[in-house]
Amino acid sequence: MTETAASATGSDGIAVLEKPGSVAETFGIPLAVLLELTHRCPLQCPYCSNPLELERGGAELSTDEWKRVLSELARIGVLQVHFSGGEPTARKDLVELVRHATEVGLYTNLITSAVLLSRERLATLADAGLAHVQISFQGSEASLADRVGGFAGGHAKKLEVARWTRELDLPLTVNAVMHRQNLHLLPDIIEMAVQLDADRLEVANVQYYGWALKNRAALMPTIAQIKDCTATVEAARERLKGVLAIDYVIPDYYAARPKKCMGGWGRQFFNISPSGKVLPCHAAETITGLDFPSVRDGASIAEIWRDAEAFNRYRGTGWMQEPCASCAFKEIDFGGCRCQAFALAGDAAATDPACALSPLHDRIFKTAEAEATSGSDRFLYRNFAGGTAKDA
Ligand code: SF4
Ligand code: SF4
Repeated sequence: MTETAASATGSDGIAVLEKPGSVAETFGIPLAVLLELTHRCPLQCPYCSNPLELERGGAELSTDEWKRVLSELARIGVLQVHFSGGEPTARKDLVELVRHATEVGLYTNLITSAVLLSRERLATLADAGLAHVQISFQGSEASLADRVGGFAGGHAKKLEVARWTRELDLPLTVNAVMHRQNLHLLPDIIEMAVQLDADRLEVANVQYYGWALKNRAALMPTIAQIKDCTATVEAARERLKGVLAIDYVIPDYYAARPKKCMGGWGRQFFNISPSGKVLPCHAAETITGLDFPSVRDGASIAEIWRDAEAFNRYRGTGWMQEPCASCAFKEIDFGGCRCQAFALAGDAAATDPACALSPLHDRIFKTAEAEATSGSDRFLYRNFAGGTAKDA
């Protein structure tokens, strides 16, 4: 989404406001920011992108602190905020935060599992100015979806909230996280998104860091599944032109070139954690040895974005090692994902092993193939206790 906004500015991916000399232009502030209001969530998805060490409710920013953050974001030129989590509706003050964001001129998107919402609360959020709703689905069949999310009755509730969303005339995105255990449902999930009158479907294959890395053997798809998935998405895009836009992300392990993760570290994106840490990526805390400043520490968000060592460490291309340092693609993919390089190569400055030029690529690819046929469906469910293992 920052990709689209940035290309509209014609600024080679660095998001700036049109107004010359604004703080956003000076600091290249992204136009959209992800706010993780809480790590609390009633679901326990085994691929959750939250860190393994979840932040407890007591550490979360207060209502006043989040309002201060929202005002500051609007002041420095951010245009859009995504309220996310954990489950953002677990915050009792969500309506107040949406209203405040709207009052200071921010476009608001709610990224939710939906299971805690009543129709009345959703209507109140719409009245407070909520502009868009994104609901995550774990599948198209209740039994499988509820098992993946670790929450009985979740799928039926999501369908209900999706219908309320459209009845309230709010635009809807369906987010479907795909893996070996639900990829066979992709045609049904596409049909479900059409039936729910969604504008957009995100077919997001799991990316393997944090909780998903712990569950890799249970989630890794086979190559045949990914080929089918790509063909299904391509056919559906053609068939549903003007009805449903489909975003598609393939799993890194089966790609020859890595994705331009976050548009490049510290270039187009930041998020704010429940306790106020400003992060270059929602998985950035999986990299040990980096110190991420908080909005509670005194520096402004713009200063953190521009000056923090954690943002500057992998910004641009100067930090790169070979083969990235002399590669023609280095300003196209920025060496891939730093979190994945750290997780798989043990060095966040290494070439992302998803790249075929990485010395680790073949080994990673073979591991993926072996795990995809391992037959292990056992999940380690995400929770504050460090995870709970359960068989299918
Ligand atoms: S991925 Fe699942 S467990 Fe994680 S925040 Fe989203 S709904 Fe909750
Ligand atoms: S070597 Fe580095 S810059 Fe070149 S394609 Fe691979 S990840 Fe990208």
